[in-house]
Amino acid sequence: MTHKTVITCKKCGKAYLYVSTGNPYPGGKECETAYCPYCGADGPSEFISGFIYTYKIDEQGNPIYI
Ligand SMILES: [Zn+2]
Repeated sequence: MTHKTVITCKKCGKAYLYVSTGNPYPGGKECETAYCPYCGADGPSEFISGFIYTYKIDEQGNPIYI
């Protein structure tokens, strides 16, 4: 299961793509946190048995995969 959302960083105000993979893991102790790819500020976090990735997006809103 992959979930993609565009998020606006609360610190620098830039938009980035938030991608979480794996399954929601309620009750789990592993809390994955997203970090802003521009300034490194903490983003959303969730309990998930997977990984969270963040990508910068260009002016057209397309993710920039590095
Ligand atoms: Zn930021």
